[in-house]
Amino acid sequence: MGLLALGTALDWPDAKTKADQVRAWGIKQLLEIWNKAKGKERDAMLWGDEVEYLVVTYSKDDPKVLLSLRQADILAALAGDKDLSTAGCVPTLPDGSRPLANDPPPVFHPEFGRFMLETTPGKPWGIEFKELLNVEPNMKLRRCIAKDHMLPNEFPITLTTFPRLGSPGVFTEPSYPVSGPKLRSQFVPDEIANPHIRFPTLAANIRSRRGRKVQVNVPVFRDKNTPWPWKDPTVNYDLHNWPEDDDVRNGAAPDNFIHMDAMAFGMGSCCLQITFQAKNLTEGRQMYDQLSPLGPILLALTAATPIYKGFLADTDVRWNQISAAVDDRTAEELGEKPLETSRWRIPKSRYASNSTYISEDPRLRPEYFDPDLVIDPAIKQQLLDGGMDDRLATHFAHLFIRDPIVIFNEDLESLDLSKTDHFENIQSTNWQHMRFKPPPADNSIGWRVEFRPMEIQITDFENAAFAVFMVLITRVILSFDLNFYIPIRRVDENMETAHRRDAVIKEKFWFRRNLFSAQRAQKGSGSGSGANSPARSSNSRPASPVGPVEDEYRLMSVDEIINGSAAYAGGGEGGEDFPGLIPLVESYLDSVNVDVATRCQLARYLELIRKRASGELWTAARWIRRFVGEHEGYKGDSEVGEVVTRDLVGEVIKIGEGRGGEVEGVKELLGGFL
Ligand code: ADP
Ligand code: MG
Ligand code: MG
Ligand code: MG
Repeated sequence: MGLLALGTALDWPDAKTKADQVRAWGIKQLLEIWNKAKGKERDAMLWGDEVEYLVVTYSKDDPKVLLSLRQADILAALAGDKDLSTAGCVPTLPDGSRPLANDPPPVFHPEFGRFMLETTPGKPWGIEFKELLNVEPNMKLRRCIAKDHMLPNEFPITLTTFPRLGSPGVFTEPSYPVSGPKLRSQFVPDEIANPHIRFPTLAANIRSRRGRKVQVNVPVFRDKNTPWPWKDPTVNYDLHNWPEDDDVRNGAAPDNFIHMDAMAFGMGSCCLQITFQAKNLTEGRQMYDQLSPLGPILLALTAATPIYKGFLADTDVRWNQISAAVDDRTAEELGEKPLETSRWRIPKSRYASNSTYISEDPRLRPEYFDPDLVIDPAIKQQLLDGGMDDRLATHFAHLFIRDPIVIFNEDLESLDLSKTDHFENIQSTNWQHMRFKPPPADNSIGWRVEFRPMEIQITDFENAAFAVFMVLITRVILSFDLNFYIPIRRVDENMETAHRRDAVIKEKFWFRRNLFSAQRAQKGSGSGSGANSPARSSNSRPASPVGPVEDEYRLMSVDEIINGSAAYAGGGEGGEDFPGLIPLVESYLDSVNVDVATRCQLARYLELIRKRASGELWTAARWIRRFVGEHEGYKGDSEVGEVVTRDLVGEVIKIGEGRGGEVEGVKELLGGFL
């Protein structure tokens, strides 16, 4: 987040008139960095994670758990502490050593919600396998340091959303009246957002551009006592404070949906993001494309969002809610009205699954692209004229169909080509499930790719496991030159599928059948043996003919995608074989030098992913649903009350702090990984 400069933020009517200028300057800045950085080679294989917390005030004896809005004070306390890394948090190993004592202290960042904190390691992780073992202790260290700079009754928790955000009554500390001028929400006060002018302006200008409030509607989970049809009982149809109060009278709150009306309901969610640095531009583009089809699979595996605004939802993940919460499209762009002032119809929100592929890989068939991708042709031409190739120019010309939402007047005085602020303005408000990050203006680091779909997990063990898994699968993709391409529209479909309750065990996803298509030289050095060896399978398969694209993929369960199909393991006939991502990671680990201790620890992480995929261990979403369902305060009517929420958060605090052993029913969530 490099956009916290202070200045005069323009309201939407003014910002709109400057949009073309920002885009034009953004493209100039992009071309400047492109020309400077396109030939960069041999950048290190670095990577880093981002973990987000909700901050709650909790006490076992208090019937309410609340969101603490002290983000600024907590960040100030953290910033004022020069000695973070030696706080009493650095774990000591049995031999007395303190593995992280010499690392630079972690970094804490603000986030949209005033009840959120983001944290990253003090420096990116390197290529050594051993470093993967530091991720989990480092995440624990970060949680501990965060807690150390909070009040005794405040806790950082890693739930994706606060179950009663926007419920009637008090849900923040301190509490404010709802319906402020920026969000104009019925349910949350403006004070819910980080007060830095960027954030309320972002929310207000999205609303203003759209011409009404955002509409975040999630299907309610129909339980045995849920009245049906269900009308969200918290919606007030009688408000007349703002013109936008008419939205609900105009149908914004349909039956059987939990209705939410502000950016905070989406951008107040916590996730787990991983950024990889590629050795050069080509590899970065390859990583972007190859990780793209994995997005929905990892979303389903990490599902953790079954409750909104005090009600059980019929979906398990946060994604579509964030998408709706920042959807600034006009009625014309949405296709609800004929185009008059808007430039084009736009099928997706600016927060959505990836729109296109960007690699120049010969295996990327034209059929994989979205035939209806919207781009700005003039911008594409400028990029082509500036020396960018067609495919990458198409990607950026698509991102640049969006307007800049927050514009600071001071930034429009002169174009500074030693900065990337105007480019980043558009880039950083295109929230796709991957982000292709060019080097910064000073070209000091390389081309990076960010993997963004995963939901935050309750424990640092799980967060580390998913981070490590993504690192390993990325290495496997590069070493074995794997091919995950499927049509991008199928990835969109998978993203929808990932929302369904228990998608990880109940649904099937489009996935590529043969990851080893031999249209390109095999670079892999895999020397493992056995049926699962990618080296063997790639050699023993004929080059895949270029047949119909539809034959290249089929529906698979997450279990099959992650663990492989039995037919493969046995080399059997009949059912179609698929090697599985974890067996591929294992083959890769067999083919490189990893010491035994490291391998054992990595095996624990892989085991979690395996068991999640098979259903032996549950997603947080499933686990939370059971907790609510079995709580004596739950009446079977989909409503998640204050006491249920308090008790749930109490258990989540314990599990997150490593005291899961005290929690009944934790076995299904974590097995032996307490
Ligand atoms: P953003 O919010 O824009 O995604 P952050 O700075 O919050 O970015 O997080 C980026 C992550 O990338 C952090 O984990 C950081 O450690 C990591 N990182 C920093 N530099 C590099 C690099 N050169 N290569 C890979 N990862 C990096
Ligand atoms: Mg960040
Ligand atoms: Mg963040
Ligand atoms: Mg990020």
